[in-house]
Amino acid sequence: MKVIDLSHLIEKGMPIFPGDPEPSIESAFTHEKDSFHVNRLLMGSHTGTHIDAPYHIDPLGDPIDTIPIHRFVGMGVKVSLTGLKPETPITTAMMSPALEQLHPGDFLIIHTGWDQYFHHHDHYQQHPYLTPEAAQGIVEKQISLIAIDALNVDPTLKEIYPAHEVFMKNDCLIVENLCGLDQVKATRGLYAFLPLKLKGADGSPLRAVFLQP
Ligand SMILES: [Zn+2]
Repeated sequence: MKVIDLSHLIEKGMPIFPGDPEPSIESAFTHEKDSFHVNRLLMGSHTGTHIDAPYHIDPLGDPIDTIPIHRFVGMGVKVSLTGLKPETPITTAMMSPALEQLHPGDFLIIHTGWDQYFHHHDHYQQHPYLTPEAAQGIVEKQISLIAIDALNVDPTLKEIYPAHEVFMKNDCLIVENLCGLDQVKATRGLYAFLPLKLKGADGSPLRAVFLQP
């Protein structure tokens, strides 16, 4: 089995959601002083490639530690929507062939190619996004998780979150900031998005992979 990494590098100075905590990976103990090394980590729960738990949007929603582990590993259908212009709304019609292939419980993986702009701050924020109607069309397929290789499923610069609300209220997890989806050739295959088991957290950074037989 080939394991394809779909995760961004987490490092100091990396691009983050506007206003989120700046990540830092410092030394708490060092080889020189302590004969071993331990890092002190500081970062927002939505740093880099990450997952949103329903508690992110809904005060009564589930936090990440209470979501069953099987929800993070599953069969995904990839829809390729590369070459879109900045801030293009993604509609149901644009995804229709892929939506027909979805079974209840599947993941939907949206490949925009926007990960190529990850280090171009302004352009990265002008990513394509899902319309509320598209989000509604997706949840009607009873999928378990939606993933995108952009900063946000909603339009970041408009500062509104209608797609988040549709997904979170329908118990559909959201993975954002994927990268490297061009390496995934299969339309349908096995993905793993395993977050840290952080008590009460609204999300978590994760290591996203595609498992190619
Ligand atoms: Zn989100």
